[in-house]
Amino acid sequence: MSHALVLNASFEPLHIVTWQRAMQLLFQGKVEVIEESDQEVRTVRFTMKIPAVLRLLSYVPLARKKEIVRFSRINIFIRDHSQCQYCGERFARSHLTLDHMIPIVQGGKKCWENIVTACKPCNQRKGGRTPLQASMQLIRKPKQPNWLPITSLQMGIARTPERWKIYLKLERRKTGHSQIDSDIEEEEELGDF
Ligand SMILES: [Zn+2]
Repeated sequence: MSHALVLNASFEPLHIVTWQRAMQLLFQGKVEVIEESDQEVRTVRFTMKIPAVLRLLSYVPLARKKEIVRFSRINIFIRDHSQCQYCGERFARSHLTLDHMIPIVQGGKKCWENIVTACKPCNQRKGGRTPLQASMQLIRKPKQPNWLPITSLQMGIARTPERWKIYLKLERRKTGHSQIDSDIEEEEELGDF
């Protein structure tokens, strides 16, 4: 059945929850309903519309949100706007690779600050060198995102429900990426690559 989008008190998207969890939050008095879905829940006592968008009544501070930004392949692509960080071109994810800015053999770490999105030709050209050694410049310095990519909250939802879109645009404006629909997709944990 359906899921609900949970917004922070400040209207930023925070979580995607199951409709059961949405009802639970509502009955606990933790959230208010911003948008209803077309689906109804019926019990012997009442019938009510399942919430599509909920807003927390108390604000969740940013520091706590940071903890849940997962370090994953897809989240690095999202952070980098599916854009090769060397040539600046945008590519479909299938044409993108992850590059260790400072190669592991040269002491580079597997972290947000050392891994960037690169197209295959740029990655090949760079090889096992640092950007300086390869005379290649990064278009921006990689850092840990301080927001929560919607994709890291996904729960196997193939399409973004219409009623969420206006709220997700808030996130889009902040982060500059424009692929909300494709961002809610299968996510891989970042293992070896
Ligand atoms: Zn490139």
